[in-house]
Amino acid sequence: MNTSARYWREIPQRYRLEAGKCRKCGKILYPPRLVCPDCKGRDFETVILPDEGKVVSYTIIAVGPTGFTDETPYALGIIELPNGVRLMSQIVDVDLDKLSVGMPVRLEFRRLQEAGKSGILQYGHKCVPA
Ligand SMILES: [Zn+2]
Repeated sequence: MNTSARYWREIPQRYRLEAGKCRKCGKILYPPRLVCPDCKGRDFETVILPDEGKVVSYTIIAVGPTGFTDETPYALGIIELPNGVRLMSQIVDVDLDKLSVGMPVRLEFRRLQEAGKSGILQYGHKCVPA
């Protein structure tokens, strides 16, 4: 009985911060795609994204979707990494009044929510102040 080990092996690549870098034009795509939107190239190498970045935009969610209702209000931000990649992430462990554009953050791997009665835990990245 080792379901958790199996679970961790099956975590999708996006949770490991794996991105695809186009060998033709150098664009980094996260999550990875099969075809580069810029040059239509199909040849990628896997790169691991940096786990620190800065907030370039954020919004405060007052009413969350099902599964997040315990956590409202919470902040959802666009995070820009040093290589220019932008991703969306919840920002946690921060006083919402002190959130600001340009604030440095670190991506942490956290439990996102429990999926209903099945009790399956979903994991993903959240941002905390760096
Ligand atoms: Zn390309």
